[in-house]
Amino acid sequence: MGQSTSAAVMEAVTAVTGVVMPTKDPLDAAGTCMFDDKVMSEKLPAPVVKRFQECLISGEPTSEEDQKVIADVLFEWARERGCVDFAHWFFPLRGGGGAVGGMLGAYKQDTLIDLEFSSKFVTKPMKACLPHERLFQGETDGSSFPNGGLRVTHSAAAFTTWDRSSPPFALNKTLYIPCAFVTHFGKCIDEKTPLLRSMDAVTTQGLRMLKAIGLGKGTSTMFSYLGWEQEFFVIRAEHFKARPDLVNTGRTLFGKLPTRHQQGDLNYFQPIPGKVAELLDRAQAVMLEVGCPMAVKHNEVAPGQHEMSPVFRVANVSCDSNVLFMEVMNREAAKLGLQVLFHEKPFAGINGSGKHANWSVGTDTGLNFFYPGKTEEGAKLFVTGIACLSYGLAKYNELVRCTVATAGNDHRLGAQEAPPAIISLYPGQGFEQYVDSVIAGGDLLGYKAEKKKQPTGCSQAMFIEANVEDRNRTAPFPFCGNRFEFRAVGSSQNCCLPVMVCNAIMAAGMGQLAEMVEKGKSHRDAVAELFKENKHVIFTGNGYSAEWKEEAAKRGLPNLNTTPKAIATWNSDKNTTLFETLKIYTPEETAARQEVMYENYVTCLSIEAETMINMAETGILPACAKDLQKCTGSFSKEFEAPRKAAYEEIVDQLEKLKSGVEAKPHGDLEKEAVYLCDTLKPLMNSLRQAVDKAETIMETSIYPYPTYEQMIYSH
Ligand code: ADP
Ligand code: MG
Repeated sequence: MGQSTSAAVMEAVTAVTGVVMPTKDPLDAAGTCMFDDKVMSEKLPAPVVKRFQECLISGEPTSEEDQKVIADVLFEWARERGCVDFAHWFFPLRGGGGAVGGMLGAYKQDTLIDLEFSSKFVTKPMKACLPHERLFQGETDGSSFPNGGLRVTHSAAAFTTWDRSSPPFALNKTLYIPCAFVTHFGKCIDEKTPLLRSMDAVTTQGLRMLKAIGLGKGTSTMFSYLGWEQEFFVIRAEHFKARPDLVNTGRTLFGKLPTRHQQGDLNYFQPIPGKVAELLDRAQAVMLEVGCPMAVKHNEVAPGQHEMSPVFRVANVSCDSNVLFMEVMNREAAKLGLQVLFHEKPFAGINGSGKHANWSVGTDTGLNFFYPGKTEEGAKLFVTGIACLSYGLAKYNELVRCTVATAGNDHRLGAQEAPPAIISLYPGQGFEQYVDSVIAGGDLLGYKAEKKKQPTGCSQAMFIEANVEDRNRTAPFPFCGNRFEFRAVGSSQNCCLPVMVCNAIMAAGMGQLAEMVEKGKSHRDAVAELFKENKHVIFTGNGYSAEWKEEAAKRGLPNLNTTPKAIATWNSDKNTTLFETLKIYTPEETAARQEVMYENYVTCLSIEAETMINMAETGILPACAKDLQKCTGSFSKEFEAPRKAAYEEIVDQLEKLKSGVEAKPHGDLEKEAVYLCDTLKPLMNSLRQAVDKAETIMETSIYPYPTYEQMIYSH
């Protein structure tokens, strides 16, 4: 292939400016390091590909002969891309969010080499290869991965097994193989396996429902899709390293806002600052190369905050690419002396970061359950799909809330920057009226989904075509024209759990509707009944308002406004039965997941409290002493007195926090979590307030850490 124009342009830029541009044009290189079905079709015998793909639908194992053929071809392909190692890559059950640098994947690298048994005289006892049994399955010591009680300490084996529907990719001389991760007894101890099971549940219940209502002829399987929007901050690595709170907890535990921060929303969609732009370009190029179509990048609301997102893909593949994105960003940022903050709330007082999960469900024939479409079939499916979703969201409301319940996300939800902790459905105001008409006996085809032409009022810019429904950014689950956007997901999270639960509640709704029709109800009446029973979950007003809290309480919608409150509802009988019925979790797996959520919360909060104490004792108080010493004598009492009062307040609050930590209960995770949330967090907040007040009076050069102003305005 000849050199593209853009590659030539890059060379010219380098020649003139001396700036070394990436060697490959990102669009020319897109997908060249992904071993997807297209590559398989080119390189493998057609019957092998056909059998491989059939197995993805039937769930049958790939035969040993086919495994060998695939492994050999994959090995050659990986070597052509410079791979020396291969790695089973998986997402251990680490509980939610809060990890510094985001919830990353796990892998151990194995060299692409094996013993050569064929030669009699072992002069060269090894050969470079990818043994087929190691491509499809890995066995490892799982003892240091959280398991929520699913694996006793002395029974350590855990297995990785290739998620055959997610393409392997070559990156940094390593062949990544996306995997599920289970115990010796096949119990899931990862994020991925339940997601894959939920995708199966969508297929089972979706096909059942389509059959019952006589739509979607020719459908052989169903898909769920995800398009994530990843928000994050970028600061200088040197600032990050100089702040023990960022290093230990991913967020600042102290710090006062600069007088100019996000008032006026001036940062939103502003030009991306140079060095950050370079980071985003590099990450985009790497992601494109491994086949993830990064599509959007822009500045976000808070200074120092940005967003990137790809074109949506099948849910599991998209979840994989999000984890990889965080990994790539961390690596590329380090090369540029930068640090990415994936935490939900790195800086108090300005917006935190989310990860909107744009989600939809459809058939392999191209029908999207959340797109009104232009045909009668599409329109019927659309209203049916939303009826199923309203059932799922109303009945399993707490479950949806639990998927975004983390220590980090508690700072965002309900804080006027992200949806409240009350989970409601926004299908649009026009649709809400239509729901009333169906309940009153109206036709399923009564929803008019035409786009609306709106004049701009000037002759130069032509009319705009507005979507059938407006957006609602205060809703946790708004309709966006062809998908729902679950807006409450936190930025550091792995998307698997939220998407798994979206799939599960949708499968529940489809199963419910199918059952009603199977038992003799008409399609229309079944939809009307689902709407009637679950209308209380539909809300199209302002989710940020105080009135909505009151109204939601009247409607009986839960407001689980802290993580411990949410987690306590996770394994209710209703939820455990749902997961078991849909074959997503056994009751043991459901219980294990709850334990891991508690563990994660307790660990996050405990580290935060300890870090605060440490920073106050070793950084803040010595600075206060120094500042006071400088002031004493040389200034009037007006300088000294307020300092003394402010710094003594820190000492008081610190003592209270230390006593609070000592009084922490042990041995019962739920009690510990509740204590940390209700008793310790307020003490931490009080200490923070005292320290931040001190920062307003302390001489600038004495403050021991990089300030907010320095960090968020460093580019
Ligand atoms: P916004 O304007 O809401 O910020 P973005 O363009 O940043 O939207 O991101 C929207 C995301 O939704 C993209 O990842 C996009 O590919 C994804 N998306 C679009 N259609 C669908 C769909 N049918 N199912 C799932 N995701 C979708
Ligand atoms: Mg966006």
